[in-house]
Amino acid sequence: MPAQGGDGIAVTSHQAPPPTTDGRPSVAVVGAGVVGLFAARAAALAGHPVRVIDRGEPGRPDGASWVAGGMLAPFSEGWPGEDDLLALGAASLGRWRAVAPELGEHVVTARGTLTVAFDSADVADLTTVAEWVGARGHEVEMLGRPALRALEPGVGGRAALSCPTELAVDNRALLTALVASCRALGVRFTTDAVADLEALPEDRVVVAAGWASSALLPGVSVRPVKGEILRLRRRAGSVPPPQRTVRATVNGRAVYLVPRADGLVVGATQYEHGDDTAVTVAGVRDLLADAERVLPGIADYEFVEAAAGLRPGSPDNLPMIGPVDERTIVAAGHGRNGVLLAPITADAVVAALRGDVLPEAACCSPTRRSGSDRPQNLSRTGAHP
Ligand SMILES: Cc1cc2nc3c(=O)[nH]c(=O)nc-3n(C[C@H](O)[C@H](O)[C@H](O)COP(=O)(O)OP(=O)(O)OC[C@H]3O[C@@H](n4cnc5c(N)ncnc54)[C@H](O)[C@@H]3O)c2cc1C
Repeated sequence: MPAQGGDGIAVTSHQAPPPTTDGRPSVAVVGAGVVGLFAARAAALAGHPVRVIDRGEPGRPDGASWVAGGMLAPFSEGWPGEDDLLALGAASLGRWRAVAPELGEHVVTARGTLTVAFDSADVADLTTVAEWVGARGHEVEMLGRPALRALEPGVGGRAALSCPTELAVDNRALLTALVASCRALGVRFTTDAVADLEALPEDRVVVAAGWASSALLPGVSVRPVKGEILRLRRRAGSVPPPQRTVRATVNGRAVYLVPRADGLVVGATQYEHGDDTAVTVAGVRDLLADAERVLPGIADYEFVEAAAGLRPGSPDNLPMIGPVDERTIVAAGHGRNGVLLAPITADAVVAALRGDVLPEAACCSPTRRSGSDRPQNLSRTGAHP
């Protein structure tokens, strides 16, 4: 356990920490996924000397952030009962609008989400979402077939929930941009597997190790939730990808198509399968079949990649962000929304480094009552990012 310094700041007794800037404590961030990189960048902007440690190379981390779809979709994902998650996601989407131009507009690949309905049960579910999210002051609208066709002529479906303020980002371009931004702010990178937080010389430690965070902090409950995802490239003569993210439920399975500069990302399956990252035949088969129902012209695309990643699942679908002891802060358990929630997580981490709680993220206290009795998103139309 670290000793308490005379100024109230925790210091370790293991090794001399790296020099501080303006007396601010040095920070080690374990994990260079989207959560760790956003936290590192924000801590550096706040004047802390920062080092990021990951077992993968900077910009090519070995986690969910590399495979993710990149939807920033708190409203399409909304479901009655998940008020805290909706508010948290909306607050983070607001931060995305400010941070995206700083990272480079090329990172943003779509503006707006359409969740299409194929049958009357889909329409009923989407109407429930539209009413619940709309009642909380967010811009959502149900569209009929003509309006859907006018926006995305190649997309099937008889109606759609439109969330025009949502965004999508290219997660891999994002990781590259975040590493470049961190380096420009003086953040150092180390490629290593951390086994013992006590051995790190920095004053403070931020654990942002995704689903593996529990191995470093056994009191924090994060589990791996497997997801398979495909990358497809448009070929000459094939139908253009939609301009917006398009989501649907097909044969009871969630599917989404997220635009990229050269094609589409198609996701995603969801299984509780331990730390298995094998891509299955059934996963690829179902994703392709379901995506073809949404965008019939997709069969002409080039199949580029199939990958699987492990979402860091928490008991109540909310992340854990905050201090677990006087030296260590956790930022993990973002489940299907880690890309969306990274900016607000970063602000919450910086607040925790100051000894404060970010009010908008107070629901994410790692010491909150386990949320296993909270309502889960059981929407038929809730695609799994
Ligand atoms: C198929 C799929 C699609 C998704 N789509 C979306 C989406 O559209 N929108 C969205 O918001 N979210 C999406 N997600 C969820 C999102 O990817 C995650 O919530 C997010 O990436 C979590 O980021 P992270 O930085 O916490 O974890 P990770 O990205 O998993 O990063 C953790 C890092 O910690 C490192 N690490 C772990 N242990 C150690 C150790 N002991 N020492 C050193 N390094 C260590 C790992 O190497 C890894 O790089 C998706 C996830 C999947 C799997």
